[in-house]
Amino acid sequence: MSYRLTADHDELRAVVRQLADEQIAPRAAAIDASAEFPWDLKELLARQDLLGTWCPTRFGGTQLDDISQAILVEEIARADATTSLIPIVQKLGSLPILVAGSEEQQARYFPRLASGEWLAAFGLTEAGSGSDVAALRMRAKRDGDDYLLSGSKRFITHGSIANLVTVIALTDPDAGGRKGMSAFIVETDTPGFSAPRLEHKMGIRGSPTAELHLDEVRVPAANRLGEEGDGFAIAMATLDRSRLSIAAQAVGIAAGALDFAVAYAAQRRQFGERIADLQGIQFMLADMASQNEAARQLTYAAAAAVDAGAPDLAYWTSCAKLIAGDTAMRVTTDAVQVLGGYGYVTEYPVERMMRDAKITQLYEGTQQIQRLIVARQLLRRAGVTRPTDG
Ligand SMILES: Cc1cc2nc3c(=O)[nH]c(=O)nc-3n(C[C@H](O)[C@H](O)[C@H](O)COP(=O)(O)OP(=O)(O)OC[C@H]3O[C@@H](n4cnc5c(N)ncnc54)[C@H](O)[C@@H]3O)c2cc1C
Repeated sequence: MSYRLTADHDELRAVVRQLADEQIAPRAAAIDASAEFPWDLKELLARQDLLGTWCPTRFGGTQLDDISQAILVEEIARADATTSLIPIVQKLGSLPILVAGSEEQQARYFPRLASGEWLAAFGLTEAGSGSDVAALRMRAKRDGDDYLLSGSKRFITHGSIANLVTVIALTDPDAGGRKGMSAFIVETDTPGFSAPRLEHKMGIRGSPTAELHLDEVRVPAANRLGEEGDGFAIAMATLDRSRLSIAAQAVGIAAGALDFAVAYAAQRRQFGERIADLQGIQFMLADMASQNEAARQLTYAAAAAVDAGAPDLAYWTSCAKLIAGDTAMRVTTDAVQVLGGYGYVTEYPVERMMRDAKITQLYEGTQQIQRLIVARQLLRRAGVTRPTDG
């Protein structure tokens, strides 16, 4: 998959980096400590037109290519992973409407999402259904021109603050998980919708992760995405594309940790010299840089695959998320090592970056699930598929 960075990409990176360095990075430690959603930074990103980069221009978005969207996420995550989730999840929650919504549904919701007036979330995971998506239990029963949605969702990023959640629920339990699911646009001010509990988390602490309860929430049939039974395919198409954002987030977190470690090593002195002049430290910095560069280039290649609508885009986005997530964990852990004891305390940002990096190995499919996707694609290319592979 070939790609070339353009002057526009460089310019976007420079603009977002300046914004992130000046207005986001100084807030990161306080957001982490308070575990409060940064509404001011959401407004900042909305004012800068950075929440609708995924959205077609005819609905008020800026419709940037996927490499640009990756650069945007990367540069924000370099300053603060929590804040990078604002554009990531705005896109994640909107993707089901983008991939399966009608012109009318897109016209109804996209302008408010692209401008940031409304926030979106994506509701797939349940307590008993994480990696095993087909095990989900939330029900959507037809009732005249509406559906009544009942059940619970777990771990829904921004679920407590979103105006709209794209929800996957069972319309035909007898058909079995994959065939019996449908996707719905649920407005969160509908009676019966509640977000009773937030998780206490290791990292990305300013990003609320909510449990959602739906008690006979009435959703018009006009808010169903695609046909009944399309839900599993819509969820997979969403995640296959959205994983790219997680790869970019991981590259950004690692870049932030590497930059800090280099600057620290250049001024910290032990045994009468800068630790940056010690070969042991230099080797560590070189490994961190080269591994993250590899993750970055793979992420841009995956972005090009998504942009091109490549039939094997899931292979690329899963490869990118797998490599970038593991790299972010390794690089941030090594950054803590470069700082020694100072890396372990909250006075310096690298311990926060290490905690934030961990989530990139878990959400939007764990690293084990990425390996299953990559392997399945490899076997499909080789003409070896199982009847259950879909
Ligand atoms: C902070 C946070 C935010 C999230 N945001 C969202 C969101 O916005 N929307 C949403 O729908 N979900 C969200 N999730 C859910 C997330 O995607 C799931 O947690 C994730 O997919 C894993 O599911 P699980 O936690 O149930 O783990 P499990 O599926 O129970 O997995 C447990 C372990 O078993 C391994 N495992 C499972 N199956 C296999 C297999 N077949 N082969 C090998 N190993 C396997 C896993 O890799 C893992 O190590 C979020 C989660 C977190 C923690």
